[in-house]
Amino acid sequence: MSRLVLVSNRVPDVKERVQSAGGLVVGLGEAVRDTEGLWFGWSGQHRENAVSSDVQIEQLHRVTFATVDLTTDQHTRFYENFANGTLWPLCHYRLEMIRYRREDYESYREVNTLFARKLAPLLQEDDVIWVHDYHLMTLGAELRALGVRNRIGYFLHIPLPPWSVTRVLPCAAELLRDLTQYDLIGVQTEEDRENFNSCFSAIGLFTRVEHFPIGIAPEEFREEARRNVDAPEVVRLMDSLRGRKLVIGVDRLDYSKGIPERIKGFEKLIRRYPQHEAKVVMLQIAPVSRAGVSAYQHLRREVDELSGHVNATFGTFDWTPVRFLTQSVPRHVLAGFHRRADIALVTPLRDGMNLVAKEYVAAQDGDDPGVLILSSLAGAAPELKAALQVNPYDPDQIAEALHLALTMKKEVRKKRWRFLNVEVQRNTAARWAAEFLSVLKEVR
Ligand code: UDP
Repeated sequence: MSRLVLVSNRVPDVKERVQSAGGLVVGLGEAVRDTEGLWFGWSGQHRENAVSSDVQIEQLHRVTFATVDLTTDQHTRFYENFANGTLWPLCHYRLEMIRYRREDYESYREVNTLFARKLAPLLQEDDVIWVHDYHLMTLGAELRALGVRNRIGYFLHIPLPPWSVTRVLPCAAELLRDLTQYDLIGVQTEEDRENFNSCFSAIGLFTRVEHFPIGIAPEEFREEARRNVDAPEVVRLMDSLRGRKLVIGVDRLDYSKGIPERIKGFEKLIRRYPQHEAKVVMLQIAPVSRAGVSAYQHLRREVDELSGHVNATFGTFDWTPVRFLTQSVPRHVLAGFHRRADIALVTPLRDGMNLVAKEYVAAQDGDDPGVLILSSLAGAAPELKAALQVNPYDPDQIAEALHLALTMKKEVRKKRWRFLNVEVQRNTAARWAAEFLSVLKEVR
């Protein structure tokens, strides 16, 4: 059987390799379970000057982990500036946030070249190579330039806008041209697939694009939620609520997640429906991410202010309407929180998929499930049609959905959840990886 070679910017660290983890790691972990694998990427280390030119190799069961260091300059330009400061906002349709500098783009290409040079000598003739995400758009072309003839697939985990938007980026056509060196491109949704095709047809090139929505490991997450429903942290949370309903939001603190709009929606709920006053608490867990990028510092201030405003306006000596946390919460505790939460508010302004929505569904007790409120602009929306879907830019819609969810009869909650759960159980992370790889193996 041919070996599977995975390439992603970050390779799971030693802890993540053995612990329960997110969709990408789970899906890829399953994909390499029955075959030999090589997982290549950045070590997570950056050093001031001369980067050790060696590839660091570690073996865990049948998977070899091979990593390289970056320089501090590459980390800033390639990773923070170009990947997270240019491609991320572009792909999430936030043109006003794009910072483009040619030096950053050059550094991006340089790191992709470095990856290709370090990876090529490790490859074997019949390896199947699968490259992941927006950090590595040009890696396939770099490998081809070095004479690599293997099958190479690529998966973009975030959205891709149509050509009318993408062409704002000065190097868009160059990136797209390089992307055609992959044998297969996978995206999360039908819409992303159409957008890719619109981009390729604009530059007069073609490559095969298919959509493969990523999933979670639903059984494992469900078990985790069941096991942790009475974990000490979960019990403390429930005690602190004193019988109030719980609305939960779990997102990296990122401007694509629509957190300010969500808090405004919660505020409108309290204003418009005083019957919920002091009867409901919103818990927003939003671990700080990319703190080195200025847009993220602004967002932090904005959410601090908004939650402070709601609490100062409506709070009483024994009711804090919004609890905003920037520490991350371990997965097993999150699973227990999800199982206890009456409502999950998952309202990104754009999202490639959004695994939190699927995790919330998987964590529910089918005899008394909570309600999922989901952005119609999340990649998960086409699958999770039975959620209460809202336009995340509209706090009024969020408030109405919250009211509907808070007053929804148990029979209706159960019926909606059953539809959602079928989707979450059907489309697992393992199936996602297997389907991508089976198409990759037959293209060309
Ligand atoms: N997550 C976590 N702890 C936290 C916040 C998030 O373990 O405090 C996990 C969450 O359970 C999910 C992942 O991080 O598996 C986020 O994935 P998603 O697709 O929702 O968003 P992304 O961060 O990839 O944009």
